[in-house]
Amino acid sequence: MNIGVELVLDAKATLGEGAIWDARRGVLYWVDILEGQAHEFNPATGADRFVEVGQPVGTVVARRGGGLMAAVQGGFARLDLETGELSIVNDPEAGLPDNRFNDGKCDPAGRFWAGTMSMGEDPAGKGSLYVLEADGRAWRALAGVTVSNGIAWSHDHQTMYYIDTARPEVSAFDYDEATGAIANRRTVVTLPPGDGGPDGMTIDAEGRLWVAHWDGGKVTRWDPTSGRLLATLPLPVSRVTSCAFGGTGLDELYITSARTGLSEEEIARQPMAGGLFRARPGLKGVPAYEYAG
Ligand code: CA
Repeated sequence: MNIGVELVLDAKATLGEGAIWDARRGVLYWVDILEGQAHEFNPATGADRFVEVGQPVGTVVARRGGGLMAAVQGGFARLDLETGELSIVNDPEAGLPDNRFNDGKCDPAGRFWAGTMSMGEDPAGKGSLYVLEADGRAWRALAGVTVSNGIAWSHDHQTMYYIDTARPEVSAFDYDEATGAIANRRTVVTLPPGDGGPDGMTIDAEGRLWVAHWDGGKVTRWDPTSGRLLATLPLPVSRVTSCAFGGTGLDELYITSARTGLSEEEIARQPMAGGLFRARPGLKGVPAYEYAG
């Protein structure tokens, strides 16, 4: 089954990423990591606005009490989307100046999970996946990560799904909601060769996973129980980075993309690279978890 997509914002983002829907406010947050911008797209008006964060910003999440958190190069931070004011809460990699935070999400208990990657020449295994507790403490959940990316939790809160783009797969872990501990890593989805690298990920109301394909030009839907491919959304751009359900009915899939690293020729062939896209795949997502701190 192929599903059509439309360009909703010709953003020409360098590295569009981190799509996440705020159901309370009816807006989609997304970031341009390399430009250090946190964006807010309002589908009701088509308006997009952003603040300059002042450093690379990997992702943002909403706080239960209102406002936003961000994972930036300098650590976990509070972010004021009106003023752009950033206050670092915890920097677990203060001693690793070549690393920056990349993708992340909140878990069912309201912890903020986000992972890092090295911007150096040999990034293999130099990143980690961290957890920010509601009280501001942070701990490392996983070491040896290359490009920490998509993360999602099963609806029974027993399983965490995770993507390190260096592995052409979605991993699953046993997940303990009470402590945040993860264990027993195994592969639940394997991407075929030639399909690019798995990047951002979200879960739908039926518990199936949607995966963005960096250099694969599509988003795919998978059954994590059987490992079967269920649907494909081809995009007119190659560097597809993240996806999130949104809209008032949570039945719209928003998809970010990037133009970083593309040659002028490639950009001429895919002029919508860096755009924000939307599909209506005929099913719904679930509300994003918020940070409890
Ligand atoms: Ca990503």
